Amino acid sequence: MRIDIMTLFPEMCERVYGESIIGRGIAAGKLEVYCHNIRDYTKDKHRRVDDSPYGGGMGMLMQAEPIYCCYQHICKEICTENPHVIYMSPKGKVFKQERAVELSHYDNIIILCGHYEGVDERIIEEIVDEEISIGDYVLTGGELGALVVVDAVGRLCEGVLADESCFTEESHFDGVLEYPQYTRPPVWHGKEVPEVLFTGHHANIAKWRRKQSLIITKERRPDMYEKLELTKQDKKILSEK
Ligand code: SAM
Repeated sequence: MRIDIMTLFPEMCERVYGESIIGRGIAAGKLEVYCHNIRDYTKDKHRRVDDSPYGGGMGMLMQAEPIYCCYQHICKEICTENPHVIYMSPKGKVFKQERAVELSHYDNIIILCGHYEGVDERIIEEIVDEEISIGDYVLTGGELGALVVVDAVGRLCEGVLADESCFTEESHFDGVLEYPQYTRPPVWHGKEVPEVLFTGHHANIAKWRRKQSLIITKERRPDMYEKLELTKQDKKILSEK
């Protein structure tokens, strides 16, 4: 998969996705991520990309034309006339693991990062397929949100993580939160690792983990728990001491 980010701050993005697991995935050719500086596409002699909003009001808005030229350049580069375009926006649908899984199946995604007061509405109408928010708060720019999307989607691309179970057993994959995990030493600050984890009995360990997942989800995310369809086995596990 290839992700192209349109931004006024490419260095901010490049530094982050070039690191750690996503960085290694990119180096190994499992995923491609590129940043494009929208400012490189302005025709203004002072390289301006923003102007004041019609009707008055605070702040500046990013103009449509430089974003559109940047978008056209990317479309040519990826030889696609209709790539999936996301605009990072506090007005968008809140990003969830489910959407990350769906997006990981796309071949090309372009992410537009707004800044200042946002972007001219007409560029959204012209090129954007969906608006994504990373939460109910307002950031100064779309870059952090774009990086969240790149990270969440990128790690799901084939070959980026060592094994598919790295994410199929994680929080949010099937509507529950992950069970608690422990590593060496067996006792730390007087706290012991649950005994079942030393038994090597895979079925009992799986049962214990499922029970913990269900308990944690019920406690911390009753909204998620309500949506769960508990199996007979789940009900049995929960009733056991
Ligand atoms: N005036 C806009 C509003 O009230 O909806 C907010 C603009 S915000 C200061 C600047 C840019 O940051 C936005 O264009 C968007 O790209 C990004 N942004 C801010 N909050 C975000 C969020 N919660 N999720 C995703 N992107 C966000």
